Amino acid sequence: MTKVIPLKYPRISQEYGRKSASYNKGYHTGIDLVAGGTDKGVYNTVAGTVVRARFFPGAKGADAQGWGNYVIIRQEDGHDVLYAHLAQIAVVQGQKVSPGDKVGLQGSTGNATGPHLHFEVWAGSWENRNDINSADYLGIKNAVGPVEYLKEDMVEEVKVVEKGVFYGAIRYNGKTYVELRAYASQDGKKVDWDEATKTATVTGGKLEEIKVILQKLQK
Ligand SMILES: [Zn+2]
Repeated sequence: MTKVIPLKYPRISQEYGRKSASYNKGYHTGIDLVAGGTDKGVYNTVAGTVVRARFFPGAKGADAQGWGNYVIIRQEDGHDVLYAHLAQIAVVQGQKVSPGDKVGLQGSTGNATGPHLHFEVWAGSWENRNDINSADYLGIKNAVGPVEYLKEDMVEEVKVVEKGVFYGAIRYNGKTYVELRAYASQDGKKVDWDEATKTATVTGGKLEEIKVILQKLQK
């Protein structure tokens, strides 16, 4: 399902999960997005109801959480979603919103060094702070740079060979393969891609871990 990306011509300036002691949980619990065009509007992602719309006039640090002016929407899909550091708020508490409705304007209120949107997604109520990977949630690549969609329409069959043994055929697309390679190298594995035979040769790591990846990729 395609969801509305909350900014126009967006780029990611800070990915989900980036580790830093400056974050309450020790990692970045959302993604930071910056609008690329002249439209700095922040747009709602999935239908829901506004459960918080807080405007803090005055000095930075007025809000304890560092979110500045922020909106939280309780979405119909069971997620609470945060739009933080807004310059202006365009909704009120209790308002029903549709995908694409304007939530406010990108800004740098609260704990922000420059204009951006901090977009955070929680499973269930925001009060439990059970954050999930907000880039995955939007269907975009969790990496700094212009937003890249994880398209699912470029699927092809490939073979995976590990330690010289043919493992199996998987459903594959270009974007997801990059994920696989990134995952493999994180884990000390090496993935060599042969374009001619469409074969990925994996060295190092454990077969079970590759199976997990394959299950994740299979649709
Ligand atoms: Zn952030």
